Amino acid sequence: MTSPVSFTEFLHRFPKVDIHYHLLGGVRLSTMQDLARQYGVPLPEAEAKSYYRAYQSGTGERRGGIAALHFLYTLLRRPEDYYRVAREVAEDAHATGIRYIETFWNPSDVSMPYRQANEALTRACDDVERERELGLVMRLIPSINREKSPEEAVAMVEAMIAAPIPMYWASASTTRNNRRR
Ligand SMILES: [Zn+2]
Repeated sequence: MTSPVSFTEFLHRFPKVDIHYHLLGGVRLSTMQDLARQYGVPLPEAEAKSYYRAYQSGTGERRGGIAALHFLYTLLRRPEDYYRVAREVAEDAHATGIRYIETFWNPSDVSMPYRQANEALTRACDDVERERELGLVMRLIPSINREKSPEEAVAMVEAMIAAPIPMYWASASTTRNNRRR
């Protein structure tokens, strides 16, 4: 006899693909705090939590996704940091039944040469795929930050062409220029 599962559990177990996942949107709170500690960046707990919808009530402040993105890129300082984040995103995706995930990242925001961050991320994809128990395929989408200039976008694409690892690229995402009001 099989026991019934709750709807939430069913949704977790059901195999899924996620084709729109922002890599830095998946940084765990504990990882954000850990990186801040490691690099001596002052980060009170309430401030850290204000970046996460799940913890925002009671923090007194709610920071949006773009603010989180900007802050996190300043905390990711070594290739290992990118590797760690990608691995954790993969583990968390696996825990919710995801079998295939495409993750966006913004090379023009990275504080190290494109090649280094790309190498760390592709290594993470490689390791994830090798670990059969995760049952997950992870791909990368280097994307143009629409807040930046067309020149920076071209520089990013040129860096990508100079260090091609197409096997891990699902596509390169471009977005229209976001006019600030
Ligand atoms: Zn998006």
